[in-house]
Amino acid sequence: MNELERHLHYPLGDTLPAPGRAIELRRGVKWVRMGLPFALDHINLWLLRDALDGREGWTVVDCCISRDEAKAQWEEVIAHELDGLPIVRVIATHMHPDHLGLAWWLCERFGCGLWISATDYHSGRLASQQTTGFGGENAARFFARHGLNAPQAQEKIRARGSYYPSLVPQVPSSYHRLLDGQVLRIGGETWRCISGYGHAPEHMALYCEARGLLISGDMVLPRISTNVSVYDLEPEANPLPLFLASIDKFRALPADTLTLPSHGKPFTGLHTRIDQLHAHHQARLAEVRAACTERAMSAADILPVLFPRALDLHQTTFAMGEAIAHLHALWFDGALRREAGADGVWRFLGV
Ligand SMILES: [Zn+2]
Repeated sequence: MNELERHLHYPLGDTLPAPGRAIELRRGVKWVRMGLPFALDHINLWLLRDALDGREGWTVVDCCISRDEAKAQWEEVIAHELDGLPIVRVIATHMHPDHLGLAWWLCERFGCGLWISATDYHSGRLASQQTTGFGGENAARFFARHGLNAPQAQEKIRARGSYYPSLVPQVPSSYHRLLDGQVLRIGGETWRCISGYGHAPEHMALYCEARGLLISGDMVLPRISTNVSVYDLEPEANPLPLFLASIDKFRALPADTLTLPSHGKPFTGLHTRIDQLHAHHQARLAEVRAACTERAMSAADILPVLFPRALDLHQTTFAMGEAIAHLHALWFDGALRREAGADGVWRFLGV
């Protein structure tokens, strides 16, 4: 447990669901945890007892990446945790591979539909069919403009063009649109969609007031800070203020709300966590601003300031996205100005 986590409360302590099994948090609300082959080594999925069009079954929230190990874990869950009932609905909080990857497989297998925001549906479908955002030629050019231009790194980013499709080989060919404020009836309870920006194109969290539960997706995580990045698809995006304004929407929820995050453990202390995330990003902004007072700095120059530890290439591209997000927040705010060097690299300097 890190220092900040001491200010949160984990009602289940260190108890985690066993692989292929669930923990029932409330009647008809189950927590499943699946392994991921990344530095972030797991994702939480949620099973909600439901009935749709007269068919008894389960709504699942998020799906894990598309790979055999995840399918095998799903087989265990299907065999042991669904009371012999089918999945009647798949909800994806957003389009990232660990959330959307197996939606196509679950929907095909159970003949059910996918519920997701329109923006994330189309982004996921596009990304599963072509290179965007996570690798390939456009990403390599984008990172070079921000100073990550060592030939080795450039080559590796180019080679990663099939990253998203390798984890999300397809997306269901139709979907049900989720909108901010929309209410879903799930298992006789009301769940309200709360949109969030800055992490994914249009993330949807789900809140059930009667049960005091918030499925926060990736918008609020108890242990790590959510990735807030600029990508090549929208090179002049300013996602950080969008993210901070989005998490502020959760302040309206009761302080004792049990938050079900996509990574980490269910926790209470939502308002405290929102304050911590604001403080984290304000500190990062101050560091970036200070670093840019002496001389003009590119995002690549900023990396050692923001991330003092050694990073592999995968972590470096995430870190670059984060560094650009913080530079852009200050640039849009008028605290930094941007100039292109003779080498074509964007550098930022305090005004
Ligand atoms: Zn995500």
